[in-house]
Amino acid sequence: MEKEALYAAVEAHASLLTTLSDKIWGLAELSCREYRSRDAYLEILEEQGFQVETNLAGIATAFSGSFGNGRPVIGILGEFDALSGLSQEAGACSCKPLVPGGSGHGCGHNLLGAAALGAAIALKEAIHAGKLPGTVIFYGCPGEEGCAGKAFMARDGAFRELDAALCWHPGDVNQVTTGSCSASLQVEYTFTGVAAHAAGAPELGRSALDAAELMNVGANFLREHMPRGCALHYSFLDAGGVSPNVVQPTARVLYMLRGENVTQTKALRARLEKVAQGAAMMTETAVASRQIDGTASTVSNPVLEKVLFDNLAQAPMPGYTAEELAYAEKLKSTYPPQGLPGSGVEENAALAAFVAEHSGNGTKALNDFLVPYYPSARKTPGSTDVGDVSWLTPTAQFTAVTWPSGSPGHSWQNVAIGKTSIAHKGMLYAAKALAGAAADLMTDPALRQRAREAFEKATPGGYDCPIGKEVVPE
Ligand SMILES: [Zn+2]
Ligand SMILES: [Zn+2]
Repeated sequence: MEKEALYAAVEAHASLLTTLSDKIWGLAELSCREYRSRDAYLEILEEQGFQVETNLAGIATAFSGSFGNGRPVIGILGEFDALSGLSQEAGACSCKPLVPGGSGHGCGHNLLGAAALGAAIALKEAIHAGKLPGTVIFYGCPGEEGCAGKAFMARDGAFRELDAALCWHPGDVNQVTTGSCSASLQVEYTFTGVAAHAAGAPELGRSALDAAELMNVGANFLREHMPRGCALHYSFLDAGGVSPNVVQPTARVLYMLRGENVTQTKALRARLEKVAQGAAMMTETAVASRQIDGTASTVSNPVLEKVLFDNLAQAPMPGYTAEELAYAEKLKSTYPPQGLPGSGVEENAALAAFVAEHSGNGTKALNDFLVPYYPSARKTPGSTDVGDVSWLTPTAQFTAVTWPSGSPGHSWQNVAIGKTSIAHKGMLYAAKALAGAAADLMTDPALRQRAREAFEKATPGGYDCPIGKEVVPE
């Protein structure tokens, strides 16, 4: 179909989408607590005639809205959770919290979800007008930052029905995402000991804090003997009481484990369990472990990635006013120069040369160009619950410019710019590219077949859900 009709549909809803994005920016609700943000989405989905399902996977803020009939079925993934400690004045050029200690959209998920909804609405209108066959499903995916909402949704049966899933992420370049990211597991270890007067009767005490410290020492020795691609991170949730003169009877440590895939990450957990038990044995305390969540690695789908690239190239790329450029320049001056923008550009000389030329060697404040597409097998260390979706259906994603070049992730700078016309432009551009890509897939069975074949080839063992059956989303 003509893409112009889809682009026009996105533009026709520009005010609805920017209002929604700004509202979510202001609410800045944390992972799996996005109640008012969910309500804002549900109101629009219902108004727009989508069939809504709520409470997916037992998560109050997970939902979907579908429109159309039969195959093909294309899913568009939306996120909308914020980050704690990142409250920030919109449009400011320095770190100015609006609410001290409050939360903020430092990962741009206010834009992420709004663009995904914009694409879904444009596709719905085309389906309604008889220009596109099949069904579009918008997924409201909570807790990307904290509770792996999509992984719970995947565990409980979502996404399998799709012919493809598409998504995007705010960023500092227009670039298709390729390669794979790590699998992850979060496991909480609770040590229980016996309280006693630390000086008067230390022989009667059994320190849970000692146990937790010894576990961390053991884990730090384990690091040397982990397979390449594995990582360990931990934080104390409870270090006992605040009185040094008490043998601490409780301690809790949260571990995040990473590996190249779910199998490797689960094997790492089995070794860490032994470290925890050893620490408990040494201190004569008890330890209990419980999984909090987990995510799978991402499966790259070069066929879908090319479709996204073509549509990023076709959709009209935003230009910027002198005022917008000046603001982005100011923000860019608040962090050190970051070199060439884009992920993995250094892997390929031609790609690096292109990006160097178009970004002025990374000096341009807003990267108003599309990074050429090169499929890559690179593995990035981070994790995302988009990975779980990518094991169930052909999935691809891209980044679009909403931030100044080199802007750090999860930063006040990203919150500050997230409500400006620069961010809105990137959001609408992303909506158009997503809608265009979905339309290509809906109208071209051979293309869907090729995407499916690439998916089957890359997932021979099928989906091994990283989250155990007993784990309840929190
Ligand atoms: Zn994030
Ligand atoms: Zn994010």
